Order: sequence, then C-alpha cells, then structure tokens
Amino acid sequence: MSTQLPVAEPADVRAAAARLIRADGRAFAAVLVLNALAAAAGLAGPWLLGRIIDEVRAGAGVAVVDRLALVIVVCAPAQLLLARAARFVGHRFGERTLARVREEFVDRALALPASVVERAGTGDLTARGTADVAAVGTTLRDAGPELLISSVQALFLIGAVFALDPLLGGCAVLAQAGIWFALRWYLRRARPAYLAEGAATSEVAEIVSATTSGARTVEAFGLQRRRVTASRDALDASRRTRMHTLNLRSVFFLSVEISNVLPVAVVLMVGGALHARGAMSVGAVVAAALYLRQLESPLDTILMRVEQLQASGASFARVEGLARAPRSGPAGSPSESATDSALGSALGSALGSAAASASGSPSKSPVPADDRIDVRRVRYAYDRGGEVLRGVDLTVRPGERLAVVGPSGAGKTTLSRLLAGIDVPGSGTVTVGGVPVAALDPEQLRRQVVLVTQEHHVFLGAVRDNLLIADPAADDAALWAALAAVGADDWAGELPDGLDTELGPGGRPPAAAHARPRGGAPVADGSRAQQLALARVVLADPHTLILDEATALLDPATARHTERALAAVLEGRTVIAIAHRLHTAHDADRVAVMEEGRITELGTHEELVAAGGAYAALWNSWHGERSAYRT
Ligand code: ADP
Repeated sequence: MSTQLPVAEPADVRAAAARLIRADGRAFAAVLVLNALAAAAGLAGPWLLGRIIDEVRAGAGVAVVDRLALVIVVCAPAQLLLARAARFVGHRFGERTLARVREEFVDRALALPASVVERAGTGDLTARGTADVAAVGTTLRDAGPELLISSVQALFLIGAVFALDPLLGGCAVLAQAGIWFALRWYLRRARPAYLAEGAATSEVAEIVSATTSGARTVEAFGLQRRRVTASRDALDASRRTRMHTLNLRSVFFLSVEISNVLPVAVVLMVGGALHARGAMSVGAVVAAALYLRQLESPLDTILMRVEQLQASGASFARVEGLARAPRSGPAGSPSESATDSALGSALGSALGSAAASASGSPSKSPVPADDRIDVRRVRYAYDRGGEVLRGVDLTVRPGERLAVVGPSGAGKTTLSRLLAGIDVPGSGTVTVGGVPVAALDPEQLRRQVVLVTQEHHVFLGAVRDNLLIADPAADDAALWAALAAVGADDWAGELPDGLDTELGPGGRPPAAAHARPRGGAPVADGSRAQQLALARVVLADPHTLILDEATALLDPATARHTERALAAVLEGRTVIAIAHRLHTAHDADRVAVMEEGRITELGTHEELVAAGGAYAALWNSWHGERSAYRT
C-alpha cells in the first residue's frame, strides 16, 4: 500500500480552472459571444412559426406566410454557421488549455521530490499523467465547449419563453425544478464517488506496475499467489467503486428523462387555459411549446456533460493535486520496484539529486556561501522501521576524497541520499555552504551536489536535449567539450545529424550502424548512455559528487570505457564515495566508518589502520584474503 499523492481541494480546482480560462481569456470571450449569437439566431424559428399561425388565424394571405418563411430560411443557415464558428473557437481554446495542463503536469512531476514519488509509488503518478490528464483533455476538447454552447442555448430558450409570457415561463421553470433536485442529489454524491473510483484505479495501476517491475523478486520469493490476491482485491475494490458511480448515474438520468417531458405538457395545458380565456394567442403557445421541446437537447447535453465534468473534475483535482505535494519530507521507499520503474529512473538519473529537489521559486532559495558540506546531528528513519541514522556528524572539506565504508545496512546509502538532497533528515541538518541541501532549487542544487548512480537514463529526443537538461544555457562548444571530457566526442562526432541526432526509443542511442568509432569496434549502447550521463555531470559542474559504488558504473561490459570518463569527471571535485571495495578507501584522503547509523571512525587510511579499530580489522582481513589468493 502506498501513500498517494495529494488531491486538490474544490476551491483550488476552481481557482485553477479560472486561471486556465484567464490564460486564454480572449478565446474564451470569443466562444461566449459566438455562442450567444448562434443561440439568438436559433430562437427566430419557433417565434416566426408562432407568428405565421397567428397571422393565418387573423386572415393573412400567402404573401405574409412566404415573407415569414423566408426569414426562417435565412435564420437557419445563419445559426448553423455561427454554431460552427463557436465550436471551432471552442475546440481551439480546449486544445490550447489542454497543452497548458500537460506542460504544468510535466513541470510539477519533474519538480517532485524523489522521496515523495517513491512513497506514492510511480503508479499513482503514472495514472494521473495518463488516465486523469486524458479525462481532463476530453472535457476541454468536447465536454467543455459543448457545455458552454448548451448552457447559452438553454438560457436563451428559457428567456424566450419568459418573453412570450412570464406566467408560462414561470410554469416551465417550475416543471423543470425536478432536474435541479436530481442534480443536487447527484452532485453531492458524485465527487467522493468519482474520487474513490480514481483512487481505486491508481491502486490497480500501482499494484500491477509494482508486480511487473518486481517480477523477478516475486518469482524468487514465490510471492505469485500473494501478488495475485493483492491484484484481485484491488480489482474488486475498483469494481465496487465503479458500480457505485453507475448506480448514481442510473438514478440521475431517470429523473432527467421525466423532467424533460413535464414542462412541455405543463405549458400546453396552462397555455391552452390562457388561450381559452383569450389571454394568449395560439401562436405564442405553439412557440413556447416548441422552445421547450428545443430545450430538451441542450439540457440533456448539459446534464450529461455535467456528469462528465464531475468525473473529470475529480481527475483535474488529482492532476492539480501535484501542486500540493510537499516540497520534501521523510522518505520511505515502499518497494524497490517503484524506484526502479521508468519515472524513478527518470528522476534518479545522473541528475537525480538535481531533479529530485523540490519545486519553488528560485528567488527564494538561499545561496551557499562556499563548497563545504556539513552534516550535523543527523537522525533519520524511514516511514516504516526504526532509526537508520542515529546522530551523524561529518564535515567534508572542499576538494577531498572521502570514502564511507561499513557493513551492509549501516546507513551509507541513506546518508548519500541525504547528502544529495533527495531526502531531508528527520532531525539535524545537512548543509552546503551553510544552506540546507534540500532547500536548494534544482538549478542551484545541481551546481553543488550530484549523485552518480547506475541509472543512466537517455531521454527521448536529440543528443542536444539530453545534454541541455544539465545546463540549459550551454552553447554547442560547451556541449562538445563535455562530450570530449568523457570520451564521447568520437562517436558523437560521427552521428548523422551531430548534436541534433535523435536518440532512439527505449532510451537507446542510435544503433552502432549509425556511428562506428573511427577504427574501433562499435561502442556498446550502455556505455554511451553512461557517457551521456557523465557528460551531463560535467555540464552541471557540481563541486561535489556522491558516488555510490554499489550502483555506480559497475557494468563490466562498459567499465573499461567509462573508467577513464569517470576519472575525468571526478577531476577537481570533492568526491564522497560510498565504498564497497576497500581499495577505494585505501586511495581516499579520508575514510569514514559507519556502523549502525553512526560514524564510528574517521581518519586517513594509515591512521585508521594504526588505530587498530573496526577499519583495521576489515582491512587486515581483506588484505589477508587478497594476499592469500595471490599466493
Ligand atoms: P547501507 O547502504 O549501509 O547498506 P542503507 O542506508 O541502504 O545501508 O540501509 C540502512 C537501513 O535502512 C537498513 O536496515 C535498510 O534495511 C533500511 N532501509 C534502506 N532503505 C529503506 C527504505 N526505502 N525503506 C525502509 N527501510 C530502508
């Protein structure tokens, strides 16, 4: 089970809708005006028909009928053309607004702290980005414009009946009142019902995506039955929520059908009585009845679309909910699989720490005074489970190479996540130049600290796009320099369109056929991805790199290619290496030993060996083993 991302409150949803309308206000006004004109043209028909009846009853000749009929003939196409124009403008408005919603969604999703995404599970974010955005899209494309058109039409039609006779208008409105009550009944129940339906859908998506991405683990531990049961439960819950909304719709639409025919009957009866007393002409009664018959179609559309609007309103609340996601918070990864899935890797690529930082206006973010990293009295616990870090103090000097060693589970990876700003400590501080790392906005953070992992994500798009993520202002010369720094300029130089070469789907650089390095064997795709990721690090130019050896660059097939590239990237930067190989520690300026969430030893390799503590024991046993192997 995961903690889903927040959902926007109704007031926020209204504010967001108003903001979207204002953003394209002129188009929206044009839609309204054109619709009003079309509706006005539509009123002419029934009124003229009524006039014809009255004129004929008063003894008028064929000439009068012809003249009136001619006006009807002119009004009909006018209404048609105006309605078409209104629809066109409406759809354009809808598409532009949808594009805006999508862009906002992407911006916000990328600005989410990785820990929040991990806790919510990528399924939730994916469901919001696909099903919910699509639902909002349908509304903007179809439901929204039609709702607008129908509302204007309905208002004009009711107004026309009132103009014919206020009493008749009053009766018609009273007879329609049933719809009002049905609508209120429905709306009160619909929001929670549709929200529950959406949440259940997310849960299904989450469970399925977790099962598939963790398929190997599921198999390895024989968890198939449990996952199937979990999926079935989620599907059952989803079905129940759907049945509930279906019930709501069934009751609602039945009352609507009844409310549709009632006003016509009432107007005919009241109108008949009025006519019998000579208070009203037959023509007026006929016109009023025709108006009410016409009202049925826009009213049906309104109700149907209001229903859809409810559903997509809930979707919109989920899409907008992203804006309410916390900037950062204590993390907890419910499952490794969530971290590994597509979005996790998008956020956790070489730019992970940068992308993982929260959104927020750059201006508010304080500027670090220098390059010093300070960890003070840091404690940290995952959502479930006890304290993982229990009071860590550490100062990393600019330019030094610090290796963090210790037994598995000591908290090394957790510490690296805090250092990279992916998570914030439960208590204590992690600062760079005196500023909390997690408070830096992405642009600033990636100039300070970058976490290098094995997740080398290549984004769909040109080589240039892949590099500009790290430094949007970089010019071509800077991009080529970065590629050269990591040894990627040879194959990149032979790409058919240079920096504009599109990288293939699945995040793979183009096949080796497109580019063979001069005189050499084709470089494996994986190493190109690594090189691109490292080139991004060069462009981001952080003063500090955090290297998790457990996951960094250990692909043996590509290690040879990237080792030099990595060395070039590390050059001149502070490096904090989460070391799993002791020779890394041996080569480091200082070594920190972590045990059970604390740093228990800190010093140079020689000092620690001389001190004869845990590190010395570790070193001696490892060294001894190596000597034993050698002999
Ligand atoms: P190391 O990198 O030294 O092996 P970690 O920082 O990965 O240690 O883990 C420290 C402790 O935190 C371990 O007991 C581990 O089980 C726990 N832990 C790690 N990640 C999570 C997580 N996402 N949720 C809950 N507990 C976690």
